[in-house]
Amino acid sequence: MYPTRRMRRLRRREFQPLFVEHETMKHHLVAPIFIDESVQGRREISSMPGQYRYSPAEVGDVAGMLLEKGIRASILFGVPSEKCEDARTAYTPEGVIQKAVRSIKDAAPEMVVFTDVCACEYTPHGHCGIVGETRFGRDLLNDPSLEVMDRIAVSHAEAGADIVAPSCMLDGAVKSIRHALDREGFEMTPIMSYSSKFASALYSPFREAADSCFTFGDRSTYQINPANGREALLESRLDMAEGADILMVKPAGYYLDILASVKELGIPVAVFQVSGEYAMIKAAAANGWIDEKKVVFESLLCMRRAGADLLITYFAEEAAGWLHG
Ligand SMILES: [Zn+2]
Repeated sequence: MYPTRRMRRLRRREFQPLFVEHETMKHHLVAPIFIDESVQGRREISSMPGQYRYSPAEVGDVAGMLLEKGIRASILFGVPSEKCEDARTAYTPEGVIQKAVRSIKDAAPEMVVFTDVCACEYTPHGHCGIVGETRFGRDLLNDPSLEVMDRIAVSHAEAGADIVAPSCMLDGAVKSIRHALDREGFEMTPIMSYSSKFASALYSPFREAADSCFTFGDRSTYQINPANGREALLESRLDMAEGADILMVKPAGYYLDILASVKELGIPVAVFQVSGEYAMIKAAAANGWIDEKKVVFESLLCMRRAGADLLITYFAEEAAGWLHG
């Protein structure tokens, strides 16, 4: 006796499109862009083939090109020419991100600009804020760093950023930034929090890209242990309570269970397919071991299936070229 339900009935080739549950569309894609103050034109990032650091002047054209390909949103990371302990180059009106935002808004005003709000690219030690001695040794200081985040977020909003995205994983950062934005008249500027961000080994190509290698320690005192799912969900819940408009899970592919749980909280969720995930696919494809296009599509589709509204991915430009809608 065969079972009454034959799952293969609806898998006939001509039926297949009728029963697709999830899709990836161009409007789901967010393109990360690196802007480097000391670069003329563009420079390729060796650990991330196909990715570049652009000068603040060049980035307007890049945004225009992305927009033409159907990508409506980008997230900006800055590499300043000068680093300092108090990260002050992160919030000056003439900072690398502030210049880049203005350049994009001049060249491609419809491009939705997210800005990464953090200090790690601006400090000589590579940590995400102010560092000092604590009772437990040298570490990132939480509350003194919040004021830096507030200043960075406000300066990005003043430059014309549409959405600010704190990635520091400091306690209370979303609430602090929300109040600072509101005080300065940016009450309509949304916050996308890097709310469930793991201390992952998959970020290392980014560190080359953004020049943010550590001189001591690591980020395990502020980012989440990959073993801890409940803790990651609580982080997102707290950020939502502090006023985050969009939550995020980072990295992507190894953390789809977290993404599915965060989605249940009920507000939009972004996922960040990080530099290591990009580099692994690129390296395997370059060796002819996998079909790059199929693997990229599958990775993005699975993020959509797990609940992602926004897909932040270094494959954004290539994927937009492959996608129809
Ligand atoms: Zn950081």
